[in-house]
Amino acid sequence: MISALFPGSFDPPTYGHLNIIERARTIFSEIHVVIAVNSAKNYLFTAQERECMLKKIVEPWDNVYVHLCDSLIVELARKVGARALVRGIRNMTDFTYEFDLSIMNKSLDSEIETVFLPTDPKYFVLKSSGIKELASLGGDISTMVPPIVAEELAKKYKKN
Ligand code: ADP
Repeated sequence: MISALFPGSFDPPTYGHLNIIERARTIFSEIHVVIAVNSAKNYLFTAQERECMLKKIVEPWDNVYVHLCDSLIVELARKVGARALVRGIRNMTDFTYEFDLSIMNKSLDSEIETVFLPTDPKYFVLKSSGIKELASLGGDISTMVPPIVAEELAKKYKKN
């Protein structure tokens, strides 16, 4: 019975993130999706908006929980009793970044392991930043994000 955290910005959540959650929840007993709250970063969606979207999306899955986090990820892992951090890998750029991050997290808490899941080939081009850009230009993002996220993106770009 090993629980895992899946941390990220989720600005906004995409089908790529969901695929990782869906697969990780069958490997681990619990998945705690952790939304990064970083006041130095410019997000399109507030932490509460990202939390609300993710909670609705993961509602059908009984072993998936959503948290907000403005502290060290390993601290939250200890708090919820998680032994692993799940990260999705799309390409070598992700791998290089994620590998360095995993070494850093290991130095903070040697008992917490990072587990990499390669993206499903269907989703390897999905990136929150690219999807926001596409949505801002009125492009069709219906195959990239769940309907609730597509609606929220449409609202954001209608206002601006
Ligand atoms: P992004 O890199 O799209 O801004 P996040 O910072 O929210 O996304 O990423 C959270 C985690 O999800 C990271 O481990 C990232 O590599 C992974 N991830 C993001 N998009 C995908 C995807 N399309 N397929 C697999 N993993 C992904």
